[in-house]
Amino acid sequence: MADNQDKWCFAWYAAPAPSSTTAKAALVKDNKWQPGDTITISFIDGTQQQKDLVQRFCKEWTDLANLTFSFQPPPNTDIRISFRYSGSWSVIGTTCRSVPKNQPTMNFGWLTPNVTDEEARRVILHEFGHALGLIHEHQNPISQIKWNKPAVIHDLSGPPNMWDAQTIEHNMFEAYPSNEIAGTTLDWHSIMMYPIPVSWTLDGTSAGLNDDLSATDKTFIQQQYP
Ligand SMILES: [Zn+2]
Repeated sequence: MADNQDKWCFAWYAAPAPSSTTAKAALVKDNKWQPGDTITISFIDGTQQQKDLVQRFCKEWTDLANLTFSFQPPPNTDIRISFRYSGSWSVIGTTCRSVPKNQPTMNFGWLTPNVTDEEARRVILHEFGHALGLIHEHQNPISQIKWNKPAVIHDLSGPPNMWDAQTIEHNMFEAYPSNEIAGTTLDWHSIMMYPIPVSWTLDGTSAGLNDDLSATDKTFIQQQYP
């Protein structure tokens, strides 16, 4: 599964576009659900194994947040999950409601038949973090990551990501405006932090592969959805 560690999830939300980029436990205020909301979810495609994994692990968020996940038939649901596109990605929070009903709002391209429970859980918790409004920790406005931009661009423009320059700028270097974000200080252990090799920074900092909700993730989501 080593190749998965090099893949980066792509997350976005609809207008307004973020003006710039960096990350920590942080959430887009305009795309927040209301505490107590029931969020409806459907599967557009996928095997029973894939659906079972999603239903099993996504609940860890609603054990903490005052939100309910309700699985229903497609397409008239808030979140629509596919498994057939490349990569793993999700829209941010309530942005899913403005996505046309015939399109997915979340995709799990990495849940192959031989995926381990550990890897499945990691990516499901991460994508559902986006669905609850969380951004990538490295795009937290308080993040002070000193990127080695040429190295990041070089690595992400090649396989397996093959991102174009605009995608790299949006997903890596744009810091969200702090007035649109509720957040903590940078949490290197967040499930929303992705691995950052030391070659990507100018000051020797790096981040490993986080595979669990951090203590800050847990308290933050409880505070956001009391
Ligand atoms: Zn992500």
